[in-house]
This record gives sequence, structure tokens and C-alpha cells, in this order.
Amino acid sequence: MNQQTNNTLLSINNLHAKVEDTPILHGVNLEIKAGEIHAIMGRNGSGKSTLSKVLAGHPDYEITEGEILYQGENVAELEPNERALKGIFMAFQYPIEIPGVTNLDFLRVAYNSHLKAQGKEEMDAFDFEDLVEEKLDLVKMDPSFLHRSLNEGFSGGEKKRNEILQMALLEPSLAILDETDSGLDIDALKIVANGVNQLVTPDNATILITHYQRLLNYIEPHYIHAMGDGKIIASGGKELAHQLEEHGYEWLYEQYTPQEVNA
Ligand code: ADP
Ligand code: MG
Repeated sequence: MNQQTNNTLLSINNLHAKVEDTPILHGVNLEIKAGEIHAIMGRNGSGKSTLSKVLAGHPDYEITEGEILYQGENVAELEPNERALKGIFMAFQYPIEIPGVTNLDFLRVAYNSHLKAQGKEEMDAFDFEDLVEEKLDLVKMDPSFLHRSLNEGFSGGEKKRNEILQMALLEPSLAILDETDSGLDIDALKIVANGVNQLVTPDNATILITHYQRLLNYIEPHYIHAMGDGKIIASGGKELAHQLEEHGYEWLYEQYTPQEVNA
């Protein structure tokens, strides 16, 4: 189990975590290889966002047991920005708004910090704007969005497209997208899905966290995992998403026997 192979990008072993003294994750195991897309489903409160925040290094969440190996290195003690510089990208369920900081400035600071970490020269504002403009088409975003405050007054769909734009610029090795489909109308959903699909390479991996099978009509994961009560309680292929869509999460939780999962 959990054997590290050359192209294993992420290996989560028996991960337990708590927030404000409440244990939320109760032993998550997950192995992700380069080139793979994994979907994590599960009803509200099952711990999906907690898992993504723990992976990103959110300071409110404390790992109490287990480990997160990313590119073979235990990243549990690394700061969020150190993880980001190593190629872990997180698109939050609720993207933050920063009044007074333009989207373009925010993107440039993020991009330059990555260049700097790689020992490369930072990019000036003009060259950077050219670079961003090339990427705008991927998410069908109007250039005027670059000059607005980060996410301020953006619609739900615009915020999510903006997250994909960040991802397109930073080219992460591991992208974790938390409910990037929530609140999107069908057109925005297709744009976001298309953006994600175009960013997939054999060298990177994507974790899609979603409630609904709907997103999976547009982005095809290699594996689907269902979370319940802070653990992954079932894993499968596309058929698992269809079964969940048809029967609901209750169906899965009813058949779930903890002994089998821990065996
Ligand atoms: P999901 O994303 O699957 O809906 P979450 O990871 O957001 O689930 O939440 C899992 C559980 O952790 C919920 O019961 C939630 O109330 C609890 N939780 C999450 N964040 C906090 C927090 N900051 N303080 C206390 N409880 C939290
Ligand atoms: Mg959530």
C-alpha cells in the first residue's frame, strides 16, 4: 500500500487533522501520480475543504497524525507560500477579495515570487501584462478585469475563472480545485472546465473537489473518491460518480463499514 513510485506526486498517509481542537480528518489515505486527475466528492461537512486547506498549509488546521509527502518530501511543516513555490496550487472554495490591489498586480507579485524562487529574473509590468493577455483567452476573460481590484465585485463565475487564470500563469505541479464548479452557470462551467483541461499535462496532477457529477461531464477524472466523516470511504472510476448521482450520498454511507476501509 502507498508504495512510492517514481511518478508519485502526492502521497497522503493516515492523515488526521483538527481545527480549533475539533478533529475533522480521521485518517485520509490518497496517492496521486503525475498525469492524473482525481475527483473528491462527498456531502457537505465531510471534510473536503478541510483536506484541501491542510494540503495548502492553512494555519488554523493542525495535523495530529500521518504525513503528506509531496514529490517525496514531507511538506507538513512548510509554510503555505513555501508549498506554493514548490508547485502546490490551491483554488479556494471562496476566493478572497483584496480591495485596492489590482488583479494584475496581484498576479504579477505571485508570478514573480515563483520566478525568484527558481532563481530567475523577475518580469517587469509591461512584459507581464503581455504574458497575462495571452492567457486571458483560456478563461474568456476581458482584459478590463486585470485592472480591477482582486475579485472585488466579481461574480461567482468570474472569481472562479480568475482562479484558473492564476493557475494558467503559475503552472503548478499539483492543483487543488475546491468546488470550482459551485455557483457557475453552464457557460461558465464549460469555460472553467475547458481551462482546466487545457492545463493538464503528463507532469502535473489535479484534485477536483466537487459535490456534483455535473463537472465530471466536462473534466474526466481517472479516479473518484468519496469522503465521509473525514476519510475516504470509497474509491472508483467514473461509475462511482454516477452511482452517487443516482442514489445519493446516503446510499454510500449506509454501505460504508469502517472495518473494511481500515483493513
Ligand atoms: P466540506 O468541504 O466537505 O463541506 P469542511 O471540510 O468544510 O467540509 O467541514 C468539515 C467539518 O469541519 C464540518 O463539520 C465543519 O463544520 C468543520 N469545520 C470546518 N472548518 C472549521 C472551523 N474553522 N472551525 C470549526 N469547525 C470547522
Ligand atoms: Mg467545502
